[in-house]
Amino acid sequence: MIDWHIVCDFDGTITRTDVIDSILQRFADPSWEAIENEWLAGDIGSRECLSRQLALVKATPAELLGFFDTVEIDPDFPDFVDHVIGLGASFEVVSDGIEQGIARILARHYVSLLPILANRLRQVDHQRWRIDFPHASDACRAASGNCKCKSTPSAQRVLVIGDGQSDMCVAATADFVFAKDRLAEHCERNGIPHARFDSFAELPALLALLPNASAANATSFNTETFNAETQELFHHV
Ligand SMILES: [Mg+2]
Repeated sequence: MIDWHIVCDFDGTITRTDVIDSILQRFADPSWEAIENEWLAGDIGSRECLSRQLALVKATPAELLGFFDTVEIDPDFPDFVDHVIGLGASFEVVSDGIEQGIARILARHYVSLLPILANRLRQVDHQRWRIDFPHASDACRAASGNCKCKSTPSAQRVLVIGDGQSDMCVAATADFVFAKDRLAEHCERNGIPHARFDSFAELPALLALLPNASAANATSFNTETFNAETQELFHHV
């Protein structure tokens, strides 16, 4: 799969739980749930949702790091990454979650060197935070914090691996999707080529389903911003 680029979601895909939801449950004023419902209803994008929700969090850096160190990942994820990189694919974790948390959680599970494209926490005072969106796009159809379409290269065939609402836009432009949960239902309803999965242990066998000869289905990607984005890809190496 030397010409394939893999865009892999983090929360609910590599992990079983959603890291930001768990942070909000532990450390935020309960009004975060009303904001979540606005996002789920499609009234606001995740960029506005996350900005408002993270402003409700009161946690010290030690408390956040302590929480990140409790998050488990799919135990077969590290071997899958080694497998597909060994086959020549490129692989990025592209998430509407928190970059620092993802980096910490993956490193604890011996997954390193993967580019991570996600939102960034910035400390406001000793227990207050805001969230920045280095991969947002004003043109994003979903008004997401991280516009996954913008971050996806157009010169390679694209495999999306994901589970939910933040993956739906980029799944529509991918060449193939490995989908869990709500993303699988979305692909089913919209005729998007996909295979349903529950665990990364299933994925090496599912690679045989990937189409061989189609050209990259990426005409809607923003190629002007792609070059700028690629400059940041290896900042976690
Ligand atoms: Mg997800």
